[in-house]
Amino acid sequence: MDDSALTLDGNAIAGLLADVFNGAEVTAALRGCGSCGQLHAIGEHRLYRGPGFVLRCPGCDDVALTLIDADGHRSVRLTGTWSIRTPR
Ligand SMILES: [Zn+2]
Repeated sequence: MDDSALTLDGNAIAGLLADVFNGAEVTAALRGCGSCGQLHAIGEHRLYRGPGFVLRCPGCDDVALTLIDADGHRSVRLTGTWSIRTPR
């Protein structure tokens, strides 16, 4: 079986990302990777789930986002260049 059939992508956490970014539709937003230099939509990034969520670059597997909900707080770490339009 092809593993890609079992892999989730950034589209799977569209609602969570919209919550983090003030209602913005983030999955179509572009991210420039600081490691491989490729440009990909957030929805194309591979999603890994553990205690939180990790998005990885589809080009080189570098970490693009970590998101953890714990102790009543949400911690978000972004790497690379994200271009996001949010509602005012
Ligand atoms: Zn990359």
